Amino acid sequence: MSTYVQGVLETLKRRNPGEPEFHQAATEILESLAPVFERHPEFEAAGLLERFVEPERVVMFRVPWVDDAGRVQVNRGYRVQFNSAIGPYKGGLRLHPSVNLGVIKFLGFEQVLKNSLTGLPIGGGKGGSDFDPKGKSDREVMAFCQSFMTELYRHIGADVDVPAGDIGTGAREIGYLYGQYKRITGRYEGVLTGKGLTYGGSLARKEATGFGLCYLVEEMLRENGHEVAGKTVVVSGSGNVAIYAAEKISAMGGKVVAMSDSNGYIYDDKGVDLALIKEIKEVRRGRIREYVQEKKDARYVEGCRGIWTVPCQIALPCATQNELDLEGAKALIANGVVAVGEGANMPTTIEATDALRQAGVLFAPGKAANAGGVATSALEMSQNSQRLSWTFDEVDAKLKGIMVRIFHMADNAAKEYGMPGNYVMGANIAGFMKVAEAMMAQGVV
Ligand code: GLU
Repeated sequence: MSTYVQGVLETLKRRNPGEPEFHQAATEILESLAPVFERHPEFEAAGLLERFVEPERVVMFRVPWVDDAGRVQVNRGYRVQFNSAIGPYKGGLRLHPSVNLGVIKFLGFEQVLKNSLTGLPIGGGKGGSDFDPKGKSDREVMAFCQSFMTELYRHIGADVDVPAGDIGTGAREIGYLYGQYKRITGRYEGVLTGKGLTYGGSLARKEATGFGLCYLVEEMLRENGHEVAGKTVVVSGSGNVAIYAAEKISAMGGKVVAMSDSNGYIYDDKGVDLALIKEIKEVRRGRIREYVQEKKDARYVEGCRGIWTVPCQIALPCATQNELDLEGAKALIANGVVAVGEGANMPTTIEATDALRQAGVLFAPGKAANAGGVATSALEMSQNSQRLSWTFDEVDAKLKGIMVRIFHMADNAAKEYGMPGNYVMGANIAGFMKVAEAMMAQGVV
């Protein structure tokens, strides 16, 4: 790494103490970008990297609400508006107890490159709160969402910043947030994506992240002389990304044998019954262990990390950051994994990624592989601006085209920089170049 890139990374770590996830994402991204700065000295002269790693704006706020027992609760809300060089800020809202400023910054930083890779005009941002929707009543979730939006509304807008879902934020939460935005501002506009179909949502948005992941993995396999059909697949998680990844990979001829939640995983060698998983997670909002009450031949194992010991040829980590560590990677390699596609954001640790790549495993990084969600959000924004809604097949076909393009952008950039097959590096470089050129054109801002 050049002294310039090294210096920016050291300053970032010093300036953002106690934010290990942000340091991790920045280390991976900046290491990949080092050769770009060697080729483009004008970027260094323009202080481009110093500006690129610093969010344009960070908003942190109090979110008070009253629970069902009449007690006052206080959560902390965040919105990190990371980069608007190529479009309005765009990115989800995460509601999970693990949320803190460093987590939102890492997600926002990843989002900048991911959104660029989609080829659509969206900048990068991310937000959320340490509020945990798990176990809360609908009324409590609504009270939280209304309070959260009562501060957030002044920072967002259809041409300013467009939040969406992420872990803990699904259709229910987006509905409450949208209602409160409209009530405060009086504006009916595409200020959020992932909306319900009756009030401006897009068909195929719900499926998009999981479907998109499979389209990209399919293209990566095809390019390297493999196919999905006949392969055994492990999908971690059982949220929105995991469910629709499992659905599409099964439609492509893969056999999903294991899925998980934060408590443990299920193993079903007959192939996971997705209708039952949907019923448990989407309708009952239950836990994945309930699966084995109905499927007597399936097995439930407490603890979610063990899922990587299940033999498979395709692994799709779709739960959360750092869920696949070196131990998990070694188990996958020992069992002959061919491809890993990241459905979640940064689910693989740096050590695990290195081990997989060294073992010759095809590795699709999240910012490329899971970009289908935000890409379809951008398609939702287009439909809202046009005041039209497209058919499922129209959106799905556009999504597939975008994912195939993203794979080839990453593949080509990796080849151009002498690292063929290194899609981590390729995705980082391809995503960065568009943002860098826009920033250069717009002067020191
Ligand atoms: N939270 C998703 C992501 O990580 C989707 C964001 C969006 O649709 O704006 O990309």
